[in-house]
Amino acid sequence: MSGAEEIDELDDGPLGRLALSRSAVDRATQRRGDTAWLEEAWADPRARVLVVQDSRALVRTRDGQLELVFVSPADAPEGTRFLLGVDADGIAYFGVSGAVEREPAARSDSADVQPMALRQAGALLSDRDAGLMTHAVALAYWHDTHTHCPRCGAPTVPAPAGHLTTCSVDGSEHFPRLDPAVIMLVIDPDDRLMLARNALWPKGRMSVVAGFVEPGESGEHAVAREVYEETSIVVGQVRYLGSQPWPMPRSLMLGYEARAAGGQQIKVDEEEIGEARWFTRAELRAAIDAGELGVAPTSSIARRLIEYWYGEELPDGRAGWQTPGR
Ligand SMILES: [Zn+2]
Repeated sequence: MSGAEEIDELDDGPLGRLALSRSAVDRATQRRGDTAWLEEAWADPRARVLVVQDSRALVRTRDGQLELVFVSPADAPEGTRFLLGVDADGIAYFGVSGAVEREPAARSDSADVQPMALRQAGALLSDRDAGLMTHAVALAYWHDTHTHCPRCGAPTVPAPAGHLTTCSVDGSEHFPRLDPAVIMLVIDPDDRLMLARNALWPKGRMSVVAGFVEPGESGEHAVAREVYEETSIVVGQVRYLGSQPWPMPRSLMLGYEARAAGGQQIKVDEEEIGEARWFTRAELRAAIDAGELGVAPTSSIARRLIEYWYGEELPDGRAGWQTPGR
């Protein structure tokens, strides 16, 4: 077993393996600086290129399973290129941020092929494809939105492997940005779960509380601060449960469980939160079954957190989540 395979078989922790936290292709970080190898890999017609645009890529349904549609380097559209990794057979995978509409020539099964967003495809893809698409979407967003040097404003130039950019004037190097965000189960002494509806969401869509970590702040502090700001509930005993990338455009979701002392009243910050309330397991299930409440999609860490508290998988529920949104 190679080191890369061992990395991909890490213990998953309390939440199990999350949809977008899976991977099966070695990122080949040691190849990123090897320009000759990169040129050779790109010239190899066996190389597989995933084209991504606005978090979408082409997917194909085959035998009920979703799989990514790759193109050869020769068929790849114009756009920023980056190395995703190398598999156990030595096949190199690249991403290109470009137009997904372009169809490779002479494809016979195009009827089954369609562009799909990572938030929809993520949970339906294999480990290999989920990892590749998550990686590619993250890098494409970064390249698309970070085109100039933050020091001097000059255009930056992507390195051959696309894992960093260099300023064309002062030579400074710039690496992909991540926004750490906390997302948490807030549980009261009666083991009830707090769910909240973002003020911008339709009725029926509720989820666990989340927010960004601020500069100079720990994840645990961000949990306590966000819960208090949004609901006036004070929590203690903040425990880390697991993480998942959510590169729309650049979040790393850090999942926690936070225990709230009893006797507190929820008072929502009405600018951010439309409503928030405690649910017992039976109340949550009844609301879902009655069509009054929907929980987050299966690709999200929110869904896995709620199911971790609930104790088993939940049905999707129809309410609230048909409208596109975060
Ligand atoms: Zn510069």
